[in-house]
Amino acid sequence: MNNKYKYFIPTKNIIARGGLTAIAEILPNECKNILLVTGKHSAKKFGYTDKIISSLASTNKNTFLFDNVEEDPSVETADAAANFAVKNNCSAVIGLGGGSPLDAAKAAAISAAAKIPVPELLEIDEKSIDKLFFIAVPTTSGTGSEVTQYSLLSDRVKKTKLNLATENSFPDIALLDAELTTSMPENLTRNTGVDALSHAIEGYLTTKANPFTNLLAESAIVTITRNIHKVIYNPYDINAREKMLIASNIAGRVIAHTGTSACHALGYYLTLVKNIPHGLANAILLGRIVKWISKFSPEKTDTIKNILNNTVDDFISSLGIDVSLFNYGVNENDVIKMAELAAVRSSTMATPGSPSAEELVKLLME
Ligand code: NAP
Ligand code: FE
Repeated sequence: MNNKYKYFIPTKNIIARGGLTAIAEILPNECKNILLVTGKHSAKKFGYTDKIISSLASTNKNTFLFDNVEEDPSVETADAAANFAVKNNCSAVIGLGGGSPLDAAKAAAISAAAKIPVPELLEIDEKSIDKLFFIAVPTTSGTGSEVTQYSLLSDRVKKTKLNLATENSFPDIALLDAELTTSMPENLTRNTGVDALSHAIEGYLTTKANPFTNLLAESAIVTITRNIHKVIYNPYDINAREKMLIASNIAGRVIAHTGTSACHALGYYLTLVKNIPHGLANAILLGRIVKWISKFSPEKTDTIKNILNNTVDDFISSLGIDVSLFNYGVNENDVIKMAELAAVRSSTMATPGSPSAEELVKLLME
């Protein structure tokens, strides 16, 4: 059989407003010790951590809380979470938060099951390692990490991100509770919403796109276009919040198959060196990359323009984001370094026209 196009997501997806309070119901009975991985503040501040602990306690399960995940988590943080799981004999992991806690939790679930430290896992080419039972609960509508196999971990020395992904690292369950996303402040809503839009657009345009991911990407772009202004300016519009959460999940399914593009590859430098949040980094770069791709894939870039009813840069500017790279403390040296780091990433090679470091510099300096 010509197995050219594949769509495979093993994750069970549940949409349940207020579902966090009953999370114990979706864990296997035999799992008694549960590792809960969160960021440092928001999950506790808004009461999400307590809801999970109460739900688990009501079914006699023990919560082991690792609430030390920083933004853009390091390899070391994920490894510390894994060690904590092993030490406490945990058989399941719940990741709660934005992409950072979800990615750290995902890596911890793999490392704890395999009893292989995260730094070693990143070195080996073993794709069939198992993981602990893993539930991902996103509190941002951005990364789609709850349905991807990727765990992006920061190497702050090399100023880049490493990707731990195995055949089995998709979460077992994604719990989509839109109420959790209403506490996002305006800037976070804006940046994470554009991250989801970038995933849909980049996935749509890469050379790895397929007929399944094309339709999913188009529908995610439509939904984000219709709802992103609503959630930025009316944070308690729960219907719009839920649509954004689902669209970000759909965009996550797209990149699970297609990967991202030179836009994400370039953005890691802005995040790790200039402290520009992940979504904002993509927002600044996306228009330029789409412009580059328009030379190779004009029909697709026209479709995006028709859906947005605007150019990518003008649409992003309409959200209140400044897309001028040089207004963010970036200089020519940075551009050269970020282009060099990005040019060797697989996502850049999967960008139509596979831009070289020199071509990326030219594109960024325009
Ligand atoms: P994040 O780094 O997880 O969180 C950013 C900030 O938002 C943190 O200060 C966090 O607080 C706060 N926050 C999260 N949810 C909140 C809520 N509901 N209310 C109020 N504050 C909230 O942000 P993110 O953009 O979702 O994730 C970015 C990471 O995901 C990057 O490391 C990126 O590389 C990765 N990523 C992964 C994939 C994938 O497929 N795996 C795809 C794209 C991006 P606390 O720290 O206190 O929790
Ligand atoms: Fe992203």
